[in-house]
Amino acid sequence: MRGALHRQMRQCGKAGCRCAAGDLHGPYMYVSVRTGARRRLLYVPTHAVDAVRRRIKATGRIDAALAEISAINLELLARGELA
Ligand SMILES: [Zn+2]
Repeated sequence: MRGALHRQMRQCGKAGCRCAAGDLHGPYMYVSVRTGARRRLLYVPTHAVDAVRRRIKATGRIDAALAEISAINLELLARGELA
């Protein structure tokens, strides 16, 4: 999963609610995801937070491995050793 976890406090908008005076609801977890140029926040229910966190970390490890492989290949090309 490509994205980043964010914690947010929210206002519900109901008249007379405690949040109108600044006592916000939450925290709620969201994952920000980019689709093309747009970025949006998806709500992450509490039971799914660990699963989302694990998937984001796994994606980071895979991205790092691909970057390393790319650097090795560019180095091989620069040395004239890419067959
Ligand atoms: Zn409220």
